[in-house]
Amino acid sequence: MKHGLSAELIESLNLVPSCIIIVSPDLSVLMANEYAKNYCRINSEKFDDLMLPKGLEEIFKGVDPSSDKQIRIIKRWFADNFDKLSASHAKLEFINAFPGISYNTLSIESQIGAIIVNFGIIPRFGEEITVSEYELAFRSMTNDTEILISIVDDYGNIKFRNYAWERFMGKGMPNEGRFRWEDSIHHDDMEAFQQHLYEAIQSRSAFSAEFRMQDYLGKYRWLKIRGTPRLNIHNRFLGYICTGIEISEAKHHMEDLIRLNDELLKSHDQLIAKKEELQAAFDAAELGSCSLDIATLKLEMSKEYRNHYGLPLTGDINWEMVTAAVEPEYRTEVNFVLDQAATQGTPVDSTYPIRHLISGERKWMRVVGKVRRNEHNIPISVFAVVMDVTRYMEEENRKNEFIAMVSHELKTPLTSINGFAQLLSYKGSHGKSEAVTIIADKIQRQVKRMGRLIEGFLNISKLDASQLEIIKERFNLIDLIKEMREEFINEISTHEIVFTSTANHVIHADRERIGMVIHNLISNSMKYSPPGSAIIINYKLQDGNLLFSVSDQGIGILPGEEERLFKRYFRSKNRRIYTIAGFGIGLYICAQIIRLHNGLIWAESHSKQNGSTFNFSIPQ
Ligand code: ADP
Repeated sequence: MKHGLSAELIESLNLVPSCIIIVSPDLSVLMANEYAKNYCRINSEKFDDLMLPKGLEEIFKGVDPSSDKQIRIIKRWFADNFDKLSASHAKLEFINAFPGISYNTLSIESQIGAIIVNFGIIPRFGEEITVSEYELAFRSMTNDTEILISIVDDYGNIKFRNYAWERFMGKGMPNEGRFRWEDSIHHDDMEAFQQHLYEAIQSRSAFSAEFRMQDYLGKYRWLKIRGTPRLNIHNRFLGYICTGIEISEAKHHMEDLIRLNDELLKSHDQLIAKKEELQAAFDAAELGSCSLDIATLKLEMSKEYRNHYGLPLTGDINWEMVTAAVEPEYRTEVNFVLDQAATQGTPVDSTYPIRHLISGERKWMRVVGKVRRNEHNIPISVFAVVMDVTRYMEEENRKNEFIAMVSHELKTPLTSINGFAQLLSYKGSHGKSEAVTIIADKIQRQVKRMGRLIEGFLNISKLDASQLEIIKERFNLIDLIKEMREEFINEISTHEIVFTSTANHVIHADRERIGMVIHNLISNSMKYSPPGSAIIINYKLQDGNLLFSVSDQGIGILPGEEERLFKRYFRSKNRRIYTIAGFGIGLYICAQIIRLHNGLIWAESHSKQNGSTFNFSIPQ
C-alpha cells in the first residue's frame, strides 16, 4: 500500500455513509472511500495517486461540473495552512470557509501523515454546491409561475431560465454554448439595456430595465426585468436573480397617454395661439370681451371693454357698475336682455347708448353674446363682445334724416308740377295759349329742378359705391356759363347774379359734372346770403389751371369750418343756417368731382365784409 494507511482505518472509512477522501501531505489523493466511489462512480485504478485538484475533479465532475474554481481554492487553502492543519481553530476556519466540508489530520510520528476530507452524504463543494442544491427546489418552485425568472452570472450570461421564459420565447436554453439573449431584444432598446446591465454588474447593484423582446411568434413584447444581486456567504458577487413581467399593455397605455398628452399639449398651444390671435383681432377691431357669471353677476372683462365704458382698468367689475354707464332710459331694456339670457338662454344682441363714466361722452354700444349652459342645460354664464357703434348709429341717423329730407325736397317740385298741370289743363280748355306757354315753362323748370335733385341723390349713392365716373370732353366754358346765366338770371329774381368773365376758354373736363359743381356753388350762395345781395361769378386760366370762383355777401363761414364744409353730411354750427334746408351733401359731391379732375376746391370767408368765396381749380 503506497499510502501506508492501516487496513483497519481503510475498512472503517469504507463503512462510513459519507463521501470521504484521504489526501497525502503532498496534496495528492490517496484514496476515496466506497461511498464516494459509488456515489461518484469513480474508477479506482484511474483515481490512484492523482494530485488533489485532479482527484477532486474526478470525484465531482459528475456532480457539479462548475466546481473547478472551488477545487483550486480548497487546494490552495490546504497548501497555505499546511503547517497548522492539526490545530482545531484551523479546522473550524475550514468549515466556515467551505460549509458542508470538514477535515481531520492523521499524524504519523508527530508529522501530518494524511488529511481525511469528509464531504458529507451528498458531496458538497462549498457555496456553489449549496446553491445547486437549492437550485433544485428553486427550479421546481419557479416553473409554476408566470413570472419570468432567470439566474445570470457575473458576466451577464444566463445560467438558468424557468419555464415561463421558455414558454415566452418558445425555445429552451441551448445545450452547448452561450444563450444569446441579446439577439431577441429589440435593437432600439438593446444598447441602453446592455449598458444598464453592465453598469449594474460593475457596481454589483440591483437593476431594473424595460425593453422589448421577441416572443415565440417573433412579436416584440415589452418586459420589465428586475435583477437582485446574488452573493455568496463571503459576500462575493455571483450575478443576479432576475424576475420579469410583461408590461406591453401598460406600456401601450403609457404610449397612448404620452401621445394623448402630446396632442393635448399641442392643442393647448394652438388654443393659446388662437386665443392670442383672437385677442389681437379683438384689439384691432376695438372689440371688448367679457363673460358674466349668472349666479354671482361678477364680470371678467377685457381692458378694451373697460375702456369703452370708462370702468377701472383693473379690479373686480359687477353688473351694477356696467349699468351705471347705460343711459337711464335704456337700463330697463338692457336688464331685460340679460334676464332673458340668464333664464331662457336667449342670445344677447343689444344696442344702447352709454355715457362714458370718465369723459361723459355719449356713445352707442352694441353687445352680442352667447349663453353657456351646464350639463343640466341651465344657463351659467354669458360670453359677449362689445363694440363701439357710435359712428354707425350716427350714420344711420343721418341716413334716416337724409331720406326724410329727400322725400320732402322731391315733394315740393312735385306739388308745383301737379298744380301747374291742373292750371295748364284749365287754361288749355279755355283757349289761353299764352298762359299755357308760361305754365308749361314753369313745369319744365320744376321738372329740371327735380331732375337735378334726383341726379344729386344718385351721385351720392354712386360715390358710396365709388362708381362716379368722369367723362372728359373739350368744350368752351363760355357756352356752359351762358346756359347757367340763362337759368339763373332769367329765373331767379331774389339775387343779383353777376358773371364778370366772358373769356373763351376751351377746357378739358366733364362738362355735365362741372356744370353741376357751378350750379351747386351758385345755389349755396343764394341759400346762405340775403335776398337782393350780389353773387359774383368769375373764371380765368392761370398757370395752366382753370380758376373758378363764386362770391357772395352772405353769412360767411365760421373760423375752423372752412375745410369741414366739404365733408359728407357736414352742416355749419352757425345758428343762422338753422332755418335753411339742407343736408350737407352738395359740397361733398362738388369736392369729389373736383378731386376726380385732380383739382382743388376751397372756401374763404371775408372777415371784414360779410360773405364767402368758394373756389375750385382744375389743371388743363
Ligand atoms: P347744405 O347746403 O345742404 O347744408 P352743402 O354741402 O352744400 O350742404 O353745404 C355744407 C355746409 O356748408 C352748409 O350747411 C353751410 O353751413 C355751409 N355753406 C355752403 N355754402 C355756403 C355759403 N355760400 N356761405 C356760407 N356757408 C355755406
